[in-house]
Amino acid sequence: MVKGSCHCKKVEFEIAEEELSVRYCYCETCRKLSGGDYSSVARVDSCKFNITQGKESLISYESRPGKNRYYCPNCFSPIYVTTNNELSFLRVRLGLIDGEPKVTVTGHMWVSEKPNWCLIKDELPIYEYEYTGK
Ligand SMILES: [Zn+2]
Ligand SMILES: [Zn+2]
Repeated sequence: MVKGSCHCKKVEFEIAEEELSVRYCYCETCRKLSGGDYSSVARVDSCKFNITQGKESLISYESRPGKNRYYCPNCFSPIYVTTNNELSFLRVRLGLIDGEPKVTVTGHMWVSEKPNWCLIKDELPIYEYEYTGK
């Protein structure tokens, strides 16, 4: 079981997995909404994601039609992201995870929007746009 929480601990969640599948996303939206060069995003089966505390209080922002991002209303940590046409899975940013579960990074996505100051220093697969595979 992988556990995660927001910065203020009002929101806690669990992922019924022992290992996370992660990709690095360089899209402009992730950069704007995280303040970082890119975000490390875990792809999680929706049925394995369970918010154990603070679910009712989450606030959301629709970053583009059908894409909803849910935040802690107190500390504004980004809890998870859903896309209306892919409701079987959701995305969780790795920075919210507590502890150090096993992680497999499967590639870099939205590299078409990567800023030039952000360098890729590994041999992982590169996807110009979205990558929805495992
Ligand atoms: Zn919080
Ligand atoms: Zn992104």
